[in-house]
Amino acid sequence: MTSTPSHRFSRRSVVLAALTLGSAGLLPATARAATGGGAPGGRGGFTVPEITPCAGWGAREPSEDVVVLAARPERIIVHHTATANVTDYSRERAHALARAVQTYHMDMQGWIDTGQHFTVSRGAFVLEGRHNSLSTLGAGDELVRAAHCVGQNSVAIGIETEGTYTSEEPPTAQFAALADLCAHVCRQYGVPASEIYGHRDFNSTACPGDRLYALLPKLRQDVARRLGDDLGVPVPRRPAHLPADWAADPEAVARALTEYLPEGLLGPALPR
Ligand SMILES: [Zn+2]
Repeated sequence: MTSTPSHRFSRRSVVLAALTLGSAGLLPATARAATGGGAPGGRGGFTVPEITPCAGWGAREPSEDVVVLAARPERIIVHHTATANVTDYSRERAHALARAVQTYHMDMQGWIDTGQHFTVSRGAFVLEGRHNSLSTLGAGDELVRAAHCVGQNSVAIGIETEGTYTSEEPPTAQFAALADLCAHVCRQYGVPASEIYGHRDFNSTACPGDRLYALLPKLRQDVARRLGDDLGVPVPRRPAHLPADWAADPEAVARALTEYLPEGLLGPALPR
């Protein structure tokens, strides 16, 4: 995640969120176990993931109307949340994460709503991030303007992967859910599997972590396979059109990359 920094810092809301999260459930079941493998219906050899809408995880209303663009995204950008690699794989934890991220983005970053379009929890639950992301994905011809990657927010779907993947890989079920979600997004919008990137391809950030970034070629292959395309996925080139503000003021962009959830909002932070 990234974007213009804001100074609307609300310590009280963070404390409240932390207290709320402290009571999150600890059910051991993962998303796949809980949903029996997700909703059937994939045509290209994958299951369309069950995506919990904002109303399902207790989202607040956006502070202003989200902007819906009459355009399809050109690519997908994968992030990690840089939060602890918890072993609580429950639905409750996934919902708590979604609420904490929204609280951080709205109350501390000053954004109108959650920054990213979708979130994949450690337990492989998939959730809507910014409002209207799910309905526009379903229609396949519109895109919600987001706040997850400087210069890409009007052209790229942003997916947050719960965890810190600098020295660990994501759990197998989570990675599979990420691939299912990417395949669904690709099919709905006509995005080729080769157009899946990591946040660091566009901004100066460690996101999505060395280990998850190293898995992106596999992710592209897995998504291509799900889409029925076994012709091989070309290695994508680093996009040439880096954001204009990158060249103009790289330090300003670096300062804007405050995507990490503060310690205490969702358990102890891990080293970056
Ligand atoms: Zn990121």
